[in-house]
Amino acid sequence: MVTVQTSRTGPSFRPSKRLGQNFLVDPGISARIVSLSRFTHEDTVLEIGPGKGALTIPLAAKVKHVLAVEKDGRLADWLGGRLKRAGINNVTLLHGDILKLDWLVLKSHFRGRMPVMGNLPYNISSPVLEKMCQKPQWMGQAVLMFQKEVAQRLTAVPGSKAYGALSLLVQYHAEVLSRLTVVKGSFFPVPKVDSMVVSVDFEKPYPRRAINEAVFIKVVKGAFMHRRKTIINSLNGALPDQTRESLLTALAACGIDPGKRGETLEMGDFLRLSSALQLTTE
Ligand code: SAM
Repeated sequence: MVTVQTSRTGPSFRPSKRLGQNFLVDPGISARIVSLSRFTHEDTVLEIGPGKGALTIPLAAKVKHVLAVEKDGRLADWLGGRLKRAGINNVTLLHGDILKLDWLVLKSHFRGRMPVMGNLPYNISSPVLEKMCQKPQWMGQAVLMFQKEVAQRLTAVPGSKAYGALSLLVQYHAEVLSRLTVVKGSFFPVPKVDSMVVSVDFEKPYPRRAINEAVFIKVVKGAFMHRRKTIINSLNGALPDQTRESLLTALAACGIDPGKRGETLEMGDFLRLSSALQLTTE
């Protein structure tokens, strides 16, 4: 078993705020996060933002291979040296931006689905999830740590403040479970807010599928463009290819009150509504 470095020591350069560099410094938490995954010694796992290796090292001990993508070249070099000194040779470090890399090339490193682990900075959380949702059939279980506010949006239920388009889109493609709260004191530098580990399992999508996913996504995004508006007014503004009458007809066919707000509607409502709108456009 390799010991994870626990001190605040490491590379001498200053952590970058822009890159969301708040490093996990509690080895007990790192081990727990890795244990929350169902990755096995047969898996290759993509790690996003390995930083100083707090997750990389326990992960490498659990799985066959880790493909780790780090945007900060100085950190990637430093971590490469650390892994070498520790005799860990089942990690491939890629210096690059996970949002700019070609995911088809990433996918070519995996025989089946692509399991993912990462402690994601706030500014890349939504774009990374959107990328995953664009190719859900490529993705396996993703065990990801987010700022608590992002995690709450992902796991939110109808009627709650955090519920929105991101909640619905991710919950449509994957089973989303919050697994562990990690207090801000577990990081260095200490961030302003706590974090939460979430399992986003693309092997367990929502059991019902949309007839046309493009229409479903448009309807969901349109419904939340203006949170304070009613569903009829939101969709009327967001779907220029629909008339107000066709929208009212579709809402009536689904038994949805046009005066309700999008945030009160469930996944099933959005699926039925997108099917009804699909029919009216055919
Ligand atoms: N996994 C380490 C840990 O838990 O201590 C580091 C987590 S730190 C919150 C986020 C890491 O992601 C940093 O190492 C940062 O440089 C890296 N990062 C930020 N943006 C990135 C991007 N677009 N692509 C790849 N890595 C990125």
